[in-house]
Amino acid sequence: MGRPGTENRPLRVAIVGSGPTGFYAAQHLFDQPDLTVQVDMFDRLPTPYGLVRLGVAPDHQKIKSVIRVYHKTASRPEFRFFGNVEIGRHLTVDDLKRHYHQIVYCTGAQTDRRLGIPGEDLAGSHTATEFVAWYNGHPDFTGLTFDLSQETAVVVGIGNVAVDVARILCRTPEELERTDIADYALEALRNSRVRQVAMLGRRGPAQAAFTNAEVKELGEMPGAACATLPDELELDPVTRQALGETPDKLTTRKLEILGSLVGRSEPDKPRRLEIRFLVSPVEIEGDDRGRVRAVRIERNELFLDDRGNVKSRGTGRFETLPAGLLFRSVGYRGVPVAGVPFRDDWAVIPNEAGRVIDPADGHPLPGQYAAGWIKRGPQGVIGTNKPDALETVRAMLEDLAQGRLPEPASPAADAAERLVRERQPDVFSYEDWNRLDALEIERGAPLGRPRLKYTEVREMLAALER
Ligand code: NAP
Repeated sequence: MGRPGTENRPLRVAIVGSGPTGFYAAQHLFDQPDLTVQVDMFDRLPTPYGLVRLGVAPDHQKIKSVIRVYHKTASRPEFRFFGNVEIGRHLTVDDLKRHYHQIVYCTGAQTDRRLGIPGEDLAGSHTATEFVAWYNGHPDFTGLTFDLSQETAVVVGIGNVAVDVARILCRTPEELERTDIADYALEALRNSRVRQVAMLGRRGPAQAAFTNAEVKELGEMPGAACATLPDELELDPVTRQALGETPDKLTTRKLEILGSLVGRSEPDKPRRLEIRFLVSPVEIEGDDRGRVRAVRIERNELFLDDRGNVKSRGTGRFETLPAGLLFRSVGYRGVPVAGVPFRDDWAVIPNEAGRVIDPADGHPLPGQYAAGWIKRGPQGVIGTNKPDALETVRAMLEDLAQGRLPEPASPAADAAERLVRERQPDVFSYEDWNRLDALEIERGAPLGRPRLKYTEVREMLAALER
C-alpha cells in the first residue's frame, strides 16, 4: 500500500479546535500541490472561529473580517466541520486515531493565570477570560454576573486583553449598541455605574505589553478620559540604559503616546481610565460580606536579571486603591486535552516544531501535532498563528513523506461521520453554521448591529428547528 495523500487514498486529518490556527493549518494543507487531503475540524462549541468570535472585542469588528479567509477554507468540498463535539467527551483521542492519519490540536488557551495573592477569590474578583467570554456570548459563560453597580474597577495587567476589558468598561452604550456584543451584556453595561477604571502594570511604560494602536485608542474614547501619571512615566536608569543601547521605534512611539496622556483630565467625559506603571497588587481586601473593597498595591522598581531581562521587584512602599470590581488579566493558560500529553509548568502540549512529544521517552507521538497557543503559549496576534501553523504542517508533510504515519483502522470519511453522529446527535455541520450565521445577521440588521448572537446551545438548536 502506497502513502496516503492520493485521490484513491486521501490523507485524513482531524483538527481539534476551530480558531484561527485550526483554519490556517487546514489552509496550508489544502495549499499543497499533489496532495489529496480531507480535513475534519472539531469544536466543542457549535460555532466556529474560536477567539475571533469569542475573544476579539466586539468594538473591534474590523479584526473579525479575517473570518472571510476561514470561510473560504471551510467551503472546500474536502472540509467538514463537526461543531458541538468535544474531544475527551463525545470522542476520545483513540477514536480519532482509528479514523485519521494525523491529528492536530489547536485548542488555544482556554483559562487564565492566577496572581497567587490573598483575596483573589473574593466576590467581585474575576478573570479577564470570564468577562471577555461573557460579553462575547460564549455559551459556557452566559450565566455569570458582574456587579456593575460598583463605581471603581481595577484591571491587573496591561496586555491587550487588559486593554480590551478596560475599554469595554469605558465604552458608552451608544458605542456598544453598534457591535455584536451579547445582548445581555449590552443591557448590563448600559446600566453600569463604573466611573473609575485603573489598569495596573507591574513594570514600566517601556515594557508595557499592550501594542501602540491599542493604547492610542484608549486616548480617543468619547466617554472616558484616559490618563497616565507623570512620575510613573519617568524612565528608570535600567530602562534608559537598555533603550540607549538598542533604541527601538515602537517603544519610542509607545512612550510618546503615553506621554500625551500625562495628567489628562477631560471633565466633560463621564468616566476616567488611569494606566498605572511600576505597581503590583499584593492583596485584594474584602468587606465584611466577602466582597472586594480595595486593592493594596506595592510600588516596584526595575532590575536586570541574570539573563538580561528587565524584571520588577517591590520597594516596600504601599498604596491602597478603592475597588469594587477587579479583573485579573495576566495572561491566558492552556488546558489539557484528555489523552494528550501536557506540560503543566508551561501549560502547553510538549512538542518539537509542532510534533507532540511523548514525555515518557522524549520521542514524537506518530501522527499527533499541535499548533497555535497550545503549542507555543498565549502570545501573538491572530496573524502570528499562520506561520506557526505552517511550521506544524511542514512537520506533518515531512512525516508523511518519510512514511512515519500510522495507518488508521477505519480511514473512510463516512465511518468517521457515522461515529460522530452516533455519539453526538446534536452535531453542527458547516452548513448548519452558515444558516445560523445568516439568522444572526438577519436578527441584528433592524437594530443596526452586525449580528445578534445566539448565546445558548439550545437556542442555536431551536433556531435551526432541531
Ligand atoms: P500579555 O500580552 O502576555 O500580557 C499579560 C500582562 O499581564 C502583562 O502586562 C504582564 O506584565 C502582566 N502580568 C503577568 N503576570 C503578572 C503578575 N503576576 N502581576 C502583575 N502583572 C502580571 O497577555 P494578554 O493581554 O492576555 O494577551 C495575550 C495575547 O493576545 C497577546 O499577544 C496580545 O497582544 C494578544 N491580543 C491582541 C489583541 C489585539 O491585537 N487587539 C487583543 C487581545 C489580545 P509583564 O509584561 O511584566 O509580564
